[in-house]
Amino acid sequence: MRIQRILANNPGSFTGPGTNTWLVDDGGGCVVIDPGPMNDVHRDRIVEQTAQLTPLGVLVTHTHPDHAPLANPLARELGVPAYGYAPGPAFDPDLRIGEGSVIDIGESRLEVIHTPGHADDHVCFRLADVLFTGDHIMGGSSVMVEDMGGYLASLEKLRGTGLSRLNPGHGDEMDRPDDVIDWYLAHRRQRHEEILEAIRDGAGSTDEIVEIVYQDVDRALHPLAARSVEAHLVLLFEEGRIASSGHELVALPTNPT
Ligand SMILES: [Zn+2]
Repeated sequence: MRIQRILANNPGSFTGPGTNTWLVDDGGGCVVIDPGPMNDVHRDRIVEQTAQLTPLGVLVTHTHPDHAPLANPLARELGVPAYGYAPGPAFDPDLRIGEGSVIDIGESRLEVIHTPGHADDHVCFRLADVLFTGDHIMGGSSVMVEDMGGYLASLEKLRGTGLSRLNPGHGDEMDRPDDVIDWYLAHRRQRHEEILEAIRDGAGSTDEIVEIVYQDVDRALHPLAARSVEAHLVLLFEEGRIASSGHELVALPTNPT
């Protein structure tokens, strides 16, 4: 099995060094995971790398604009189907996949794991003990979360499942996946408590919470942080730890039972 990373030229505050497109080739066939944004140079590089191989499919982990828009045109050019969990703004899967779907690559098989949280339509792809994580887990940073309860469950689901490597949608490959997952879980729990603390200290809105909790984070990332804060707030509401009073958030006393 040969796994190759092709880095798209879309670096930025939200994408790190750029989107990682993964080419997975087992000799009998290959697939492309997350072709990335519309970009002719990147498309030509992917096509060039697959020229001597047998392409079988183009796969997307989720439909965000830095991952999926090139999928349909690339799939058409390679004459293979585009696989995805659901249609998105610039993506329409030829074949829909979900939890437990299997995609055969020659003698190997890629297993689909539904991992909602960063996005509802997010999946990871597992190849033996290697996991292609998309934006569920990134190399070198935490991720923006839309649904915190779902996200934490999607992290727990991967923990202790015998993985030995994570190949993310941004940043470098990671060894020791369970340690990485533990860091992510601890980081989210810490943010959860910091947000509750900020509300106790009088922060009454998302923006005020971001100013306090994310004061050490690059301001360019504050809009993304605000979305993660909203996801934490929904979970804090569900847990009965906060309420809203007028337009202000308030922390509820801890139930002694
Ligand atoms: Zn994303």
